[in-house]
Amino acid sequence: MHDASESLSAVRAKLAQAACKAGRDAGEIELVAVSKTHPPDSIRTLAEAGQMIFGESRLQEARAKITVLPGRLRWHFIGHLQKNKIRAALPLFELFHGVDSLETARQFHRIAEEDGLRPQVLLEVNVAGESTKHGFSPDAIRTQIDEIVALDRLDIIGLMGMAPFHPEPEHSRPYFRQLRELRDRLEADAGVGLPQLSMGMSGDYPVAIEEGATIVRVGTAIFGERSGKQWSPTSGDD
Ligand SMILES: *Cc1c(COP(=O)(O)O)cnc(C)c1O
Repeated sequence: MHDASESLSAVRAKLAQAACKAGRDAGEIELVAVSKTHPPDSIRTLAEAGQMIFGESRLQEARAKITVLPGRLRWHFIGHLQKNKIRAALPLFELFHGVDSLETARQFHRIAEEDGLRPQVLLEVNVAGESTKHGFSPDAIRTQIDEIVALDRLDIIGLMGMAPFHPEPEHSRPYFRQLRELRDRLEADAGVGLPQLSMGMSGDYPVAIEEGATIVRVGTAIFGERSGKQWSPTSGDD
């Protein structure tokens, strides 16, 4: 049986080690435990071990878990959110990692305005230019940033990105560095603060921390392998 709280301790230790190596304070790096596909019981175990922030990428699955878990847990939405699901998602999550186009940003803004909300968001950048991934291209975000920051119902606090999958963590470093440099340029060009950098997953979060990540999204290294199927209250795992 996979011991998630033991894995959590190991991830926290590695996170602290990477921060130390980079001369950074581990306290400034937020660990999001990516709980997609995993049942509420596993999440509860981690919450008892002190993990408070969980990441989900499907609204329906997340809602089913949030309903049955303690209200003090904090939830981040880490995937692409379909237009017709934004309204239902807004009150549930404290941070949306995947605002991935001007169109999506406008939809978030409009619904937030209608519902009197001011969601915290990250702009997702497709730094590797992978056709299978969502996100602004680096060029698009540079030309559109003024228009995006004018959407005053959005509290835009930073950028999110992913490196292409590769078994060697060092392979991710140039993509993370590119995201950080893009952030620095956007801050200078648009005169906005984008302090948060959400980058790094199970395979490469220590490298991401060395390159300036302030939020890492770690699933497999904490929970073990995913089944591939979404969790639902009727799937019988909990
Ligand atoms: C699933 C997922 C993760 C976690 O991936 P692991 O490799 O299991 O750590 C992180 N970020 C996003 C956007 C994801 O969809």
